[in-house]
Amino acid sequence: MPPTQAEHSTSVLVVGGGPTGLAAAISLARVGVDVTVVDARVGEHPPHATGALTPRAVTQLSELVDLDRLTGHDVSGVRVLVHGRVVDLRWPEHPDYVLPGKVVSRADLDGALRDTAIEAGATIWTAATATAPLIDDGIVAGATIEQAGDSSQTTEFDDAGKAITTVDVRSKFVLIADGALSHFGRALGTARNRSHPMGVVARVRLPSPSSGEPWIETAIDLHDSIGKPIPGFGWVFPGGDGHATVGVGLLTAFRQTEDPPIADLLRSWLARLPGHWGINGDRIDLTSLPIDTGRLPMGGSVHPKSGPNWLVAGDAAGMASPINGAGLESALETGQIAAQVIGQSLSEDNGLTLRTFERYLEAEWGRQLKVARLAARAIAKPRIARPLTNWASRSPELLAGGLRIVTGLQRDDNPGRAERNFARVARIASLIPERSS
Ligand SMILES: Cc1cc2nc3c(=O)[nH]c(=O)nc-3n(C[C@H](O)[C@H](O)[C@H](O)COP(=O)(O)OP(=O)(O)OC[C@H]3O[C@@H](n4cnc5c(N)ncnc54)[C@H](O)[C@@H]3O)c2cc1C
Repeated sequence: MPPTQAEHSTSVLVVGGGPTGLAAAISLARVGVDVTVVDARVGEHPPHATGALTPRAVTQLSELVDLDRLTGHDVSGVRVLVHGRVVDLRWPEHPDYVLPGKVVSRADLDGALRDTAIEAGATIWTAATATAPLIDDGIVAGATIEQAGDSSQTTEFDDAGKAITTVDVRSKFVLIADGALSHFGRALGTARNRSHPMGVVARVRLPSPSSGEPWIETAIDLHDSIGKPIPGFGWVFPGGDGHATVGVGLLTAFRQTEDPPIADLLRSWLARLPGHWGINGDRIDLTSLPIDTGRLPMGGSVHPKSGPNWLVAGDAAGMASPINGAGLESALETGQIAAQVIGQSLSEDNGLTLRTFERYLEAEWGRQLKVARLAARAIAKPRIARPLTNWASRSPELLAGGLRIVTGLQRDDNPGRAERNFARVARIASLIPERSS
């Protein structure tokens, strides 16, 4: 029997209900825009999915949701481990970002965003996958959605025998927020610039007596089994709940040699974890634990980020930082910016307004992402990585300045040494050409 193709219409269809899509949905619904979010995820994120939020990300989040809805653990800064030295760096002071950083569970974070979006008036469908764009006269007119689960309209079943309902959702605008792989974005012609960095990330959650620590700990001197520097970092996030999350991130894309498997890197980071975490890393059998791995497109690497009536934001646009892998911050920010631009386009009834989106992104992050992309390329070379990390290990001031820049807490209103040095580096970086694909 052919499937019944029900129809639904909305002003804005958001494909993907992660932090990007939900931030956008809250912002749109709050100004009275009719918005529908479809999210393929079935069920909550597992307990080992945790994320660290910088003070800037927490401030963004506080504008979207009531922070009391989250049970996260506050952190006052970053403890950097480099070549045997330990440097504690408090979050840099900034007049606009005064809240501490936070470690949150993704179930909590996405749940608070989702509940708030629903309260604001957004329609949210879960277990609902946008399988293909609907195209009318060459323009995107929405998407075909397959929703899994019991339904009175069921006419199809997936391979596991579960009911599927197919619905055509028609919309004036589409926001693509479908995460790192962005199949829906690719269907509309987006592509990742393969010469830009890509992160591969793995994390595991373990019981720790030090889960109340106030520091995120990070090692910036990872190396392989023969001691060659590896472009990436290891981290431990205290969860405040009797657990800590241990993870590694590896920058790939332009290494000449083959990268070590991410699980091996996680294993070697676990083996050298500082003792105070109370995690006996070299005794842990990773094969018996749920390890979360994923890819993280970085540095603004996906293009185009806008079309005649669609925008791309968050991981789908490759907006995570190549230096610290902080994708939640850019997800929340780009989701909100996309919502503002779409809202303005709707109120002016002018699709051309969407073109301002890429200009906003360039103005806000262009300089920083270009420097970060070039820095990531440089640290992929052992002959640069080794002296750089040696230098960093002897210069807490350099590390503090670096933290200010990579966490987006630079003081453009009151520039100090870090800001002035960054401006010099950015000027040089602007003269260095990059491949466009
Ligand atoms: C292991 C790991 C650890 C990380 N740790 C941190 C961290 O500590 N701090 C930090 O800032 N960042 C971290 N990141 C990055 C961060 O998770 C991402 O940058 C962030 O989740 C991006 O949000 P998003 O909404 O753009 O994408 P996602 O969170 O990936 O959300 C996309 C959503 O779209 C849905 N979707 C996909 N395709 C479709 C479709 N066709 N139809 C409908 N729905 C669809 C997916 O189900 C998903 O729910 C980490 C990433 C990984 C992989």
